[in-house]
Amino acid sequence: MRRLTLPGHPDTFALTERPTGHHDDDDDYEPLPGSLTLDDAVLVASREVQPGDLVVAYFEKHAEHGLRLADHVVGPFSAAPHALRDCPCTGCEECTEVRTWTLADPARVADVSSRFLCLLPADDDGPCVHAYPNEPVAVIRAATVAAAEDQADEQPLREYHVAWAADFEASSPEEAAQMAYEQLKSYATDALPPVLEVRDPDGRTVVLDLMA
Ligand SMILES: [Zn+2]
Ligand SMILES: [Zn+2]
Repeated sequence: MRRLTLPGHPDTFALTERPTGHHDDDDDYEPLPGSLTLDDAVLVASREVQPGDLVVAYFEKHAEHGLRLADHVVGPFSAAPHALRDCPCTGCEECTEVRTWTLADPARVADVSSRFLCLLPADDDGPCVHAYPNEPVAVIRAATVAAAEDQADEQPLREYHVAWAADFEASSPEEAAQMAYEQLKSYATDALPPVLEVRDPDGRTVVLDLMA
């Protein structure tokens, strides 16, 4: 668990371990992408969230023993923050709630944009993600996410052992070898590629059919 603070904010925020797998509430917590961990996360106010930041946790509204515990985002998402008035959403449940709130008192209309912002417009996965501008959220900055992706692309080279085997009916080892050689040459032109057995340095073997 990491204890985080935000300048100008009296509370301490506890970034607990991210739940994994299936939970009581039937939520499947997606793992963070690539090599990213919660150690890569920083605490910011919602209004400081930048496009492409990965939103990983909110925090409980009330402190317990001086700590506000993380409320992990089930499916971390890449933020596309904007003012509510700029939201392309045509009326999700969150936006309907805000509209109801403003209709109850027309004076609130002017307040909406200072009271709420939207971190992600509604899509097939769910409604808009609204937040209070001062609300602390844990994010992994876009640059950190991009660096991890680059690193994932650059896999170090390792040595693999590739084996090919086939059976031939022949009257001598030389004849079998010659038949094998002819078959290997045929792969270059007309034959289907062979199914190959590939063993990695850790001794794990996979069988690869290049036609599949
Ligand atoms: Zn909406
Ligand atoms: Zn929006």
